[in-house]
Amino acid sequence: MTAPRFPLLLGLVALVVAACTSSGKGMIALQGATLIDGSGGPPVTDALLLIKDGRLTAVARVNEIKVPRGAVVIDLAGKTIIPGLIDAHAHVERWALPRYVAWGVTSVRDLGALSNDSAFALKADLGAGAVFGPRMYTSGAMIDGVPATYPNATAVATGPEARRAVDQRAAPGAAGADYLKIYTKITPALLRPLMDEATTLRLRVAAHLGKTDALTAARAGVTSLEHMSGVVEAAVRNPAPYFRAHDLFLAGWTREETGWTALDSATISRTARALAQTHVAIVPTLVVHETLAHLADTSLRSRAEMADVPADTGNVVRQVTSLLRRTNWRAADFAAFQRARPRQDLFVREFKRAGGLVAAGTDAANQLLVPGASLHEELLLLTEAGLSPLEAITAATRHGAQLLDADSVGSLVPGKVADLVVLNASPAQNINNTRDIAWVMIRGRIVRPDSLRTAWKN
Ligand SMILES: [Zn+2]
Repeated sequence: MTAPRFPLLLGLVALVVAACTSSGKGMIALQGATLIDGSGGPPVTDALLLIKDGRLTAVARVNEIKVPRGAVVIDLAGKTIIPGLIDAHAHVERWALPRYVAWGVTSVRDLGALSNDSAFALKADLGAGAVFGPRMYTSGAMIDGVPATYPNATAVATGPEARRAVDQRAAPGAAGADYLKIYTKITPALLRPLMDEATTLRLRVAAHLGKTDALTAARAGVTSLEHMSGVVEAAVRNPAPYFRAHDLFLAGWTREETGWTALDSATISRTARALAQTHVAIVPTLVVHETLAHLADTSLRSRAEMADVPADTGNVVRQVTSLLRRTNWRAADFAAFQRARPRQDLFVREFKRAGGLVAAGTDAANQLLVPGASLHEELLLLTEAGLSPLEAITAATRHGAQLLDADSVGSLVPGKVADLVVLNASPAQNINNTRDIAWVMIRGRIVRPDSLRTAWKN
């Protein structure tokens, strides 16, 4: 049979078939697709995936193993299956949940809310099935120095305060953080006690740095450098003016982004190798750097993906004019940001070449970054930076799972959860084909992007 039109119909078919036999009862067999399993290995043709109770029970070639009688067989000849995508840098908003899944993103690494909707409440609602969306992991509120950049962050001024902020997040269950997020005003003096406490409590730390350079933070044990922050400060001879600029968030961002243009290729390579040696990961979010470098280009606001963003003007994705006003960025700033881009790409390439772990993330739902869609933009940018399409897919699947320390997601091998994306065309040669989604499976359930779009428009 071909792929059923509606999830409900699939449920009925499964029920009828299951009534006749027992061994394949409740099982789905995906047959004949090319499989990219997230491991980074070459695509496997004529794949057979058996799924039961939301988990992969077998992954083989067609005819290598028998499909148990009673299983619902879905013929996927001509299609390509990839693991459900992981956005490794998200600020998850409630409205965005179905958007992620419609774009094949089945797990999100939330790094602190943009709005006052608590990430813990969202995560609890998702876990209970009260709302539909991706698997959500969260840092809870960011930990920042003083004054905190955002009102919903926790501001710490002393070592004991830094330790207390970590302790508060170590609560077990849905009220606890899966990892920590530290922000631009954390100084080395605050980072030391913070990392000491985080290590004791076995909490990983995602770092958007400002007043600490990347090498200092990596050697102190942070897990990931978000946006490649702190790299310029680690590379230049005198980072003091950069640290001072980070007193104000936007001044710091502007200075750091422009700072890339002053780095020569030898310095970039040396810094990338030194960082890779520490085993810190990077989540480059090239799509943020690219978007901000072209923020004044009005065509970005009308690109097709923006149709997935609610029309209300209060939505941060649409708040471009106010950001332009706040930053006061001029043509010379945008020109510098654009000149920074090839150097950032070189850093990603050299970091990967030195054995560093690169994960794909987006920073959605910030300005012009559409939840779900922007991860496909990141995949394209990663390939333009020098990753192969398969390496880019690994960055958005297995590497995201490694960052999350989430063993059950990110690759398609027996025992993992059945989160996957069925593509109409192979992305192995052309990464843009990750956008050509036939349907998505999450928690073993088939969902169609068209049906999701119809549902959120009504
Ligand atoms: Zn962010």
